[in-house]
Amino acid sequence: NRRYVFAKRPEGVPGKDVFELEENAVPDPGERQVLVRTVYLSVDPYMRGRMRDRESYAEPWDVGDPLKAAVIGRVVDSNYERLSEGDYVTGELDWADYTVTDGDDLHPVDPDLAPLSTYLGILGMPGRTAYFGLLEEAPPKPGDTVVVSGAAGAVGSTVCQIASLNGCRVVGFAGSDTKIDYLEEDLGIDAAINYKETENYRDALDTVAPDGVDVYFDNVGGPITDAVFTKLNTDARVAICGQIAHYNDESVPTGPRKLPQILPLRATVSGFIVSDYAPRFQEATQRLGEWVANGDLTYRETVTEGLENAPDAFLGLFEGENIGKQLVKVTDP
Ligand code: NDP
Repeated sequence: NRRYVFAKRPEGVPGKDVFELEENAVPDPGERQVLVRTVYLSVDPYMRGRMRDRESYAEPWDVGDPLKAAVIGRVVDSNYERLSEGDYVTGELDWADYTVTDGDDLHPVDPDLAPLSTYLGILGMPGRTAYFGLLEEAPPKPGDTVVVSGAAGAVGSTVCQIASLNGCRVVGFAGSDTKIDYLEEDLGIDAAINYKETENYRDALDTVAPDGVDVYFDNVGGPITDAVFTKLNTDARVAICGQIAHYNDESVPTGPRKLPQILPLRATVSGFIVSDYAPRFQEATQRLGEWVANGDLTYRETVTEGLENAPDAFLGLFEGENIGKQLVKVTDP
């Protein structure tokens, strides 16, 4: 059994020395426990926060801890009455080939209802984040201009489409021409800005969002957010979903930025964590599932093969290597 442990706290951009691959025997499940074989493992930007020695909404890892991730896996041995060999489950498991865990910590998933990988993406945490983050934290009205940063990622690409379904004009920021084509051609949003090729984001917004910005769904922070804040309209709604541009910073370069613009606009800026909506997850999964089934919502996944490549897949999030949800495929279902 191969398993990654957290070998070193990074400073700034993490290197590969943060991850150490151990090999040990496949563990046996104890009473009411289950042995799970990892099929898909999710790498997520918030994991960078767990590498810091600082309390946050996700508990920090200690050096030597096994790295954890949302996993889809197959039960290979079970001492838990409600799960049997061959069942597919999801849970917070090790970055490993196999994990033993309490049966109570696992949730069954149905491979006949949707492809297994989607339970970590469009029908999983990122899909729910897009759904509640947009519709509850920054509710769009038909005709609104909605700007999305990190638009071609797992959360962002879903937000763009839900905003279009709500009759909005949608503008996305993303970091490559391939992503711009994906957003404009495949997802059909109104305009996309390649921020790596654009010198002045405010001028770019003047062109594609001439009526200003009513809703801003922020996945990244930094200079993109500074520019969007200067274009907000009265009563604008802003959802602060993520700030990936700052996750590798050792200190945030200035205090809260561009807030003088917010005051006279009576804008609402709303931070949220998707788990706030746990009592309503069923509703989101159902709606997202219906939209996928009827073609209103599409999704892309970037699948890296092999547990040994999980660190690269994680680090690639900060380089923009993924379109849609970044997954690691550890073994065939
Ligand atoms: P993504 O699939 O969007 O992957 C991250 C993307 O961020 C990359 O592909 C890259 O795309 C972009 N990016 C990386 N660095 C920068 C930078 N410096 N400036 C601008 N863009 C950058 O990840 P997720 O969809 O999983 O997550 C999106 C955001 O939402 C993250 O910030 C995450 O932490 C947050 N999140 C928050 C949740 C909550 O409950 N609040 C829940 C889930 C996610 P590009 O090529 O465009 O640069």
